[in-house]
Amino acid sequence: MRHIVNPLNPYNKYSAEYVGEPPPTKLEVFEEIATKKVITKAFASDRDGGWRYTVNCYRGCIHGCTYCFARQYHEYLGYGAGTDFETKIVVKPNAPARLREELKKSHNKMPHLDFSFATDPYLPLEASYELTRKCLDVCAEFQVPVAVITKAPLITRDLDILTRLKKVSVFFSLPFLTKEKSNPFEPYTPVPDARFRAMKIIAEAGITVGIGIAPVIPGYNESDIPGLLEKAKVSGATRAFMSMLHLDTDSIEEYFVQKMHERLPPTRVNKIINTIKRERGGSLRHHSYKERGVGKTKQWEMTRKLFEFHSRRLGFMDHIKPEDALVSQAPFQQSLF
Ligand code: SF4
Repeated sequence: MRHIVNPLNPYNKYSAEYVGEPPPTKLEVFEEIATKKVITKAFASDRDGGWRYTVNCYRGCIHGCTYCFARQYHEYLGYGAGTDFETKIVVKPNAPARLREELKKSHNKMPHLDFSFATDPYLPLEASYELTRKCLDVCAEFQVPVAVITKAPLITRDLDILTRLKKVSVFFSLPFLTKEKSNPFEPYTPVPDARFRAMKIIAEAGITVGIGIAPVIPGYNESDIPGLLEKAKVSGATRAFMSMLHLDTDSIEEYFVQKMHERLPPTRVNKIINTIKRERGGSLRHHSYKERGVGKTKQWEMTRKLFEFHSRRLGFMDHIKPEDALVSQAPFQQSLF
């Protein structure tokens, strides 16, 4: 049983403390029926014009990856970045209608829409709400190029729409080779092999597929990189990127460390913490936006070379350098929802 645990929300004036053991978590779904805008413009220096446009039909994510940078966005809503992010899910039922309205005005100027960055567009609720599916359908109608980043095989349900899109790429976020390696950090996600199977199905449908090895957690999963790239290649992927773990806020750092202590032996936790600190110049957090997805040491340089060597060896087209992946994975959210 999971109990409620959230770091203090820096945006809340008051906070509550439980006397004794906190109550168990329960899934709560909130429907935000008055969503005014569904396309978010966010800074991204890897994009022409310096902007990325994203669509997220949900807030919060049941997958509960402990490293997830989207946890901070839940605090803006007054919720916590811990279990609240994983169990209090906001759904935007009118997202497809809003998207249609927005694209009616902007589709000629819309360079690209990304489905990701604030949640997994294929979190389990999507199976019944079908909001990502309906939004992709709108993109097909307006012939807007799309990229989707997900950890969920549920995306294969939407092959009929994905194949109608003018231009589309799908990236599977896959930083760990095995279920055992993934579990401490991605406790509620589909297992890595399920993601590879979905990757193959998408590739066989003729859609461009890639692997995102993100995050690389220093001292933990660097050795998975060659195997991940090999398996991705066999599963039909033609693109790859990686980036280093970044803990963007105090709340995310606190929750990440707390969960490591609960799920890994102390020696393993100490090794990870010490290795991250070496890469970050003494702390767990990066000191500037530029440093967000890259390390400082020769060890990181070797990790980067390892990724590049195997990407080239396996013939990944357009593989993205880690520095670029840092930027492409880390848009500054100019406006959130
Ligand atoms: S699947 Fe993506 S959005 Fe969901 S918790 Fe994991 S990293 Fe965050």
